[in-house]
Amino acid sequence: MPQDTQTNRRIVLAERPAGLPDDDTLRMEEGPVPEAGPGEMLLRTVWLSLDPYMRGRMNDAKSYAEPVAIGGVMTGQVVAEVVASDIAGFAPGDHVLAGSGWQDYAVSDGTQVLNLGPSPEHPSWALGILGMPGYTAHAGLLRIGEPKAGETVVVAAASGPVGATVGQIAKIKGCRVVGVAGGPEKCAHVVDNLGFDACIDHCADDFEAQLKAACPDGIDVYFENVGGRVLYAVLPLLNPFARIPVCGMVAWYNLTGLPDGPDRGPQILGTLLRMKVKMEGFIIFDSFPREAQEEFRHDMTDWLEKGLIQYREQVVEGLEAAPGALVDLLQGRNFGKMVVRVG
Ligand code: NDP
Repeated sequence: MPQDTQTNRRIVLAERPAGLPDDDTLRMEEGPVPEAGPGEMLLRTVWLSLDPYMRGRMNDAKSYAEPVAIGGVMTGQVVAEVVASDIAGFAPGDHVLAGSGWQDYAVSDGTQVLNLGPSPEHPSWALGILGMPGYTAHAGLLRIGEPKAGETVVVAAASGPVGATVGQIAKIKGCRVVGVAGGPEKCAHVVDNLGFDACIDHCADDFEAQLKAACPDGIDVYFENVGGRVLYAVLPLLNPFARIPVCGMVAWYNLTGLPDGPDRGPQILGTLLRMKVKMEGFIIFDSFPREAQEEFRHDMTDWLEKGLIQYREQVVEGLEAAPGALVDLLQGRNFGKMVVRVG
């Protein structure tokens, strides 16, 4: 069902999932296209970003952001086109970056909306390499990971928008970079196209041994995207004064309780203590000073122009395909930054 000018399709949270979201978690609703009033503008969604954090917003749990209410439109960043505007600085035809969520149309008062101009070269990149995931990689790696030339940096989800960018920035900084990804195709892409020194498949039986062999000088920076088996394999390889920016733990986002198995607390805290490791969590929206974003924009624009950063997207067609695509993303069945072409 394509986007039309009369109907606003919205995907709302129908119920809170236990574990992976399923067919009952999200529901599509239809209504009239809203009207913009004085001091407002009407936005038509063109691209919707799908990101792992969306799973967390489905939970009614204490976090850095409010959960999506039952019946509320699923949260998400979009690139939209301005249809009508009563706000100075936003004209019909402009493309904007906004947080209007999983729907065809939204009314905005312009708060926290970035104008990308009438014809940005790659509109969807504002959701990825030039947006939140790119900034996450840049600030998390450089400000917390503090990589130095010659050091070894390990990052998982290495073919995804954050991991791929982390590894390529670390290469620019002169590090040895080892990625971790799910499957041979992703690993080949990470080495052949992104220029990592090695990439290990975390599904391999001997993953731990392969990771050790790929890091003969130990690990100085582990950029934490996933948790789980990858974290446990990294711990014994950490060098004194290693740094761990804790960005995400997607391997655990669908847990309904603590996992079975040994209590890893002593191993984790013991490693941090004995190896004098700095482990620091961050949330990209408010963990860094304002100039961090300006530095990111400056560096990334420069690196893209010079061809030093490669960027891969997976395009999903149609708003109705978004729920299934998010489940794929949470299980590693994406290859690159997942974006939905809505209109
Ligand atoms: P990706 O597009 O890379 O998607 C997630 C990837 O995680 C999957 O493709 C899969 O890759 C991997 N994965 C899923 N399950 C497992 C598992 N059990 N073990 C190992 N890997 C797994 O995501 P992003 O680049 O958008 O995000 C990466 C991380 O960064 C996420 O944890 C996200 O929540 C976090 N994040 C945090 C931010 C912050 O402010 N702190 C901001 C933005 C993102 P593969 O098949 O290769 O294993």
